[in-house]
Amino acid sequence: MDLSGKRVLVSNDDGYQAPGIAVLAEAMAALGAEVWISAPRDEQSAAGHSLTIRRPLRIIKQSDRVFAVDGTPTDAVLLGVLEVMKETPPDLMVSGINRGGNLGEDVTYSGTVAAAMEGTLLGIPSIAFSLVVADGAQPKWATARLAVERTFAHFAGLKLPPKVLLNVNIPDVAEDGLGGVELTRQGYRKIGSDIHRAFDPRGEAYYWIGAQREEDRYAEGTDLEAVGRGVLSVTPLGLDLTHEPTRDDLARLGRA
Ligand code: MN
Repeated sequence: MDLSGKRVLVSNDDGYQAPGIAVLAEAMAALGAEVWISAPRDEQSAAGHSLTIRRPLRIIKQSDRVFAVDGTPTDAVLLGVLEVMKETPPDLMVSGINRGGNLGEDVTYSGTVAAAMEGTLLGIPSIAFSLVVADGAQPKWATARLAVERTFAHFAGLKLPPKVLLNVNIPDVAEDGLGGVELTRQGYRKIGSDIHRAFDPRGEAYYWIGAQREEDRYAEGTDLEAVGRGVLSVTPLGLDLTHEPTRDDLARLGRA
């Protein structure tokens, strides 16, 4: 896909200095885009779609088109579009590349996906990129860079409908092992019970949510299953969360 002449807003939840956002910004620039960055100053992983409304926000200019926001990913995208780029609105918004996958129900906790949700709500086609990283392993950024290129090549000419974004998950494989794009649906892996309890110096208990996941068996066609096979998982996510079959059931009950 040729992005020449297009303005692309890049954000994330790992913070504007994270390695993944640099990889994504470079990939966008290589496709010819004019790249703008508005991203959280500090890491905001698992911030979800949180909006800061009880304190003021600052935009800290780093260079001509790079801005750090002292808030959440949602704040960074909102201010990026409505303030930083208000004279020159973006044609496309990309989020990531997150250090770690955003699979299954991660999408509701994820700040990476939420940044793309915010872009979508502002009427900008938005794509979230996340790189699966095995526990204790180094992120494979070269694979991630290739995956971004492969995604844009695959979806050249793509027009996303309103309120729909793409959630892209990149498998934890070497570059030469990276498979093609596969369309998937959101999978499910249950949250584990890894809650650590300890005591502070005054003897009060505190809790730390640990490694949250227990791997469920992966169902075919899901994002989880796809990255397990080394392919590039692309899931279209809708921001209208209405569950239509249940709505229909309830409507029938109401008539009974
Ligand atoms: Mn993150």
